[in-house]
Amino acid sequence: MIKAIKGTKDIYYPEIEKWQFLEEIVIDVFSNFNYNEIRTPIFEETALFARGIGESTDIVGKEMYTFTDRSGNSVTLKPEGTASVVRALLEHSLQKAKPLNKFFYISPMFRQERPQAGRLRQFHQFGGEALGSANPYLDAEMILIPYIVMQMLGLNDFSVKINSLGVPESREKYKAVLREYLSDKVKDLSEESRRRYETNILRIFDSKAENDIMIMNEAPKILDYLSNEDIDHFEEMKNILDDAHIDYEIDEKLVRGLDYYTNTTFEIVSGSVGAQSALCGGGRYNLLAKELGGVDIPAVGFAAGIERILLACKNEGLLEFDPYPLPLFIVLLDKYYDRVAYNLSLYFRGQGVETELDYLRRSVKAQMREANKNNAQFVLFVGGEEINDSKVTLKNMANGEEEKYSLDSLEEIVNKIYSSDEG
Ligand code: AMP
Repeated sequence: MIKAIKGTKDIYYPEIEKWQFLEEIVIDVFSNFNYNEIRTPIFEETALFARGIGESTDIVGKEMYTFTDRSGNSVTLKPEGTASVVRALLEHSLQKAKPLNKFFYISPMFRQERPQAGRLRQFHQFGGEALGSANPYLDAEMILIPYIVMQMLGLNDFSVKINSLGVPESREKYKAVLREYLSDKVKDLSEESRRRYETNILRIFDSKAENDIMIMNEAPKILDYLSNEDIDHFEEMKNILDDAHIDYEIDEKLVRGLDYYTNTTFEIVSGSVGAQSALCGGGRYNLLAKELGGVDIPAVGFAAGIERILLACKNEGLLEFDPYPLPLFIVLLDKYYDRVAYNLSLYFRGQGVETELDYLRRSVKAQMREANKNNAQFVLFVGGEEINDSKVTLKNMANGEEEKYSLDSLEEIVNKIYSSDEG
């Protein structure tokens, strides 16, 4: 038996209904803010991520699914969405068509992480990117949108953390201070953090090692090293979040893994999903377009993990739907009329009435059982004596009422079903 690859999942009933429910909310909220969907390819030239995300990040250094295709090109399954969106924007010069492009995506992503609760190798994100403006309203919007999605799902147990990394000059200044602070402590850090001390010093803040955490708690704080302009941007964003009644906390240890961030970074974390608590993360990346295409396009974005959000929903007892009622199930009383029954199903489906019938040529009793399993609101009996008078019987499953209808006036059945729906 061939099985699915470790760290990947098949998603099907009844779970798939939760995905569809969430995706509808995501599309509604993004549309409400006038974001346009973008679908980029599932794989890209490896150089896009290596240049965009940064060689020293965990994603590029350890996690990418990279392979050489038959033409000898190095390609990578996309580990995140932003680099591809920026590539698409530049490739099609969309910044010339519109000074501000607001995109959203819902897409699988691929990272070869150690599979564990909350960490998959193929997972799914929805995300937004606003490209073409440094306005702090857009930074706030990137927090607002996932926040509203989570509220609409009914989630309660989550919180917003924000930080600012400033422009690269401020950050470099801060990194030097941090390096100095750690210089006599580096020997006490974990092996991973000792490596990060050389390659990506800010990421030491992400260490889970107890001793590292203690050392980093006492470290100088990045906000003390930002320029006035950086601080103004941060303050403005905070004011906008305050106006929108979004609770947040400042977390100066929130550096995030990617090299391309400038100014704002943020995460939304859940209290209910265990160690991998980040539901959503993002930030401003004013330098990425320049890095990838030599054009200055200030931008900000976020990505949210769908599996983790659904896990948070499960842990908060949300999205436990009853099966959707099925408006109509056609029960065939007499095999001879199976084509009539099927043609009727096409008629009702054409009228927008979700309809099912038996494909397994089962007994009437078994068909009724199937109708009940499908939570059918109405059953239409086809066959029996009344078919000789060109009639069919409609049964309302809620109250047992039965009515005969002529095959010449099927629209009456449609009206009946729709009117019961409104009631
Ligand atoms: P990141 O791009 O790493 O900030 O990820 C954004 C969000 O995607 C995270 O907050 C998680 O919810 C989700 N995520 C990231 N990596 C994984 C993974 N390996 N498995 C499942 N979800 C993930």
